[in-house]
Amino acid sequence: MSKALSNRINSLPVSQTLAMAAKARELKNQGKDIISLSLGEPDFNTPDFIKNAAIEAINQNYNSYTPVDGYAELKDAICEKFKRDNNLSYKPNQIVVSTGAKQSIANIAQVLLNPGDEVLLPAPYWVSYSAIATLCEAKFIEIPSSIDTDFKITPEQLEAAITPKTKMVFFNSPSNPSGSIYSEKEYRALAKVLEKHPQIYILSDEIYEHINYGNKPFSFAAIENMYDRTITVNGLAKAFAMTGWRIGYIGAPDWIAKACTKMQGQITSGANCIAQRAAITAVSATPDKVQYMVDEFKSRRDIVLDLLGKIDGFKINIPEGAFYVFPDISAFFGKTIRNKEIKNASDFSMLLLEEANVATVTGEAFGSPKCIRMSYAASELQLREAVKRIKEVLS
Ligand code: GLU
Repeated sequence: MSKALSNRINSLPVSQTLAMAAKARELKNQGKDIISLSLGEPDFNTPDFIKNAAIEAINQNYNSYTPVDGYAELKDAICEKFKRDNNLSYKPNQIVVSTGAKQSIANIAQVLLNPGDEVLLPAPYWVSYSAIATLCEAKFIEIPSSIDTDFKITPEQLEAAITPKTKMVFFNSPSNPSGSIYSEKEYRALAKVLEKHPQIYILSDEIYEHINYGNKPFSFAAIENMYDRTITVNGLAKAFAMTGWRIGYIGAPDWIAKACTKMQGQITSGANCIAQRAAITAVSATPDKVQYMVDEFKSRRDIVLDLLGKIDGFKINIPEGAFYVFPDISAFFGKTIRNKEIKNASDFSMLLLEEANVATVTGEAFGSPKCIRMSYAASELQLREAVKRIKEVLS
């Protein structure tokens, strides 16, 4: 039957983050004691003050279709948030609320990319960037980086990757999967290159902005002459432990926002009414309201770095944000462990799943084939047990 499917869907890879999470769930259901470090999802409950706003919205009978681009009160609150946290001035007509930041990104790609356009992806990059570009029949071009540069690209690399066909570049700081954060200075140096190429639009994915361990991330659109070419993407999932509520949003030049609203109006309509009402309360809250989660993530990061650092063959950067470690495990390539030949990161990730019952995601999905991603959005007990099992398998 797959022959009947479109070329579009046949050319689309499965999301490796979601696939690994599904596999871990399936094995758990079969009774296996799996520790899943695959999915990037806070293991906290949504804070009560946000849940209460949702309950109130239900009781107030918010049940009708929502404006396609989001409730006016929510867009106002998002404008305030951009001013408060990011030094960015957006008007409500520049804001579009969507069903998760993933839809925001898909909208932007759909409205800006034509077949054959090139999209630059500093690697490692989040798995769905490349898939979304592929869906638009655009070509994604990876700009490689490694642990030696803290997984960040240089202005020279950016310059070298640009061609007359380059239409967009995707930045993500703090990064999923590396946790790296571009400083203002580093972003300004990249912007200097982009100044010379006015046909290129910048998607700045800032979904992990609040999950940082000291260095507050800088918003790319805050660079004066980049504002008109940058789309700032954010959402509620990570900072407020609201992954399932599915609320993302953008701040963008008004003509891009308008196009995204048109796209969304034909595909999903406005985002969920109750989640949007709760989102007003969430984005209006200052980041200190969720600092307890960030503090907990930091303490787990330190534990994981300490424990993994004691395993020979794991080379790790110090992630400054998000909740992932992205070790380079290429030292194991070519070895045979428990009768399994490790040729690449996928083999290694599979070894950990089958022999240690620990689910991770292969770096190949993120454009970094020497690494694996491990989410430390899990309890300290689970993290300690996971590393213990990994150590046993590798020793
Ligand atoms: N963004 C999260 C991750 O990378 C959630 C899964 C997904 O949508 O990819 O694990």
